[in-house]
Amino acid sequence: MRVPIVAANWKMHKTVSEAEAYLKRLVELVGEKPPVELVVFPSFTAIPMAGRLLSGTPIAWGAQNAHPEHQGAFTGEVSVAQVADLGARFLICGHSERRHLFGESDAFVGAKVRAALGHGLVPILCVGETLDERRAGRAWAVVERQLAAALAGVALADGRNLVIAYEPVWAIGTGVPARPEDAQAMAGRIRAWLQQAFGKVAEGIRIQYGGSVKPGNAREFLALPDIDGALVGGASLDPDEFWAIARAA
Ligand code: PEP
Repeated sequence: MRVPIVAANWKMHKTVSEAEAYLKRLVELVGEKPPVELVVFPSFTAIPMAGRLLSGTPIAWGAQNAHPEHQGAFTGEVSVAQVADLGARFLICGHSERRHLFGESDAFVGAKVRAALGHGLVPILCVGETLDERRAGRAWAVVERQLAAALAGVALADGRNLVIAYEPVWAIGTGVPARPEDAQAMAGRIRAWLQQAFGKVAEGIRIQYGGSVKPGNAREFLALPDIDGALVGGASLDPDEFWAIARAA
């Protein structure tokens, strides 16, 4: 059975003290045994504090980004190895903002996924089409290309070591989520692709939906057969809203 995974991507929000107040409130809300796996993705600056505050709680944390090279002349970058050194468990790879605003290629995303796995982190691999690609009937072709490039040569011993987030680009931060039937159709195709690629291990890979998930619509997505959680941006910035979404799972 796949345990649902609900993740908070704060993006470039919150000072360390704001992050601390949020996490204290979330720890209080979540209690000791939440029925879902919860992950928060603070900015790098708040990660050490988050690691200290969340240790011993059921809430995991990770990094929104990292560079796949171990070390080197990459001014301003933080490596996967450095993030792993802080005790992170998860790494977001291939978020559409990284792909579209920072020009990350499929190959670079794949290097990050492999570096994450190599350092014992669980990659949350984001895939998803733009509105033009969907209108042109190319949504699956784009998602398939992103999966194939990011997961080429990856061997998985356990499906829990990989999470896929299906995030249609046009639904991120717009307030216009995908229709649940479209999200399910895509998640079903992703599941079938993963089965071809990884065999039985694929049964343990969780697939999240992301794109304008809110407390009011979370249940519709989280009840879908091939969706095992959500990656949440805007609505995750408030701990009560984020917890309301997690409870819907
Ligand atoms: C995201 O950034 O991954 C995301 C899904 O954002 P939002 O929930 O704001 O659409």
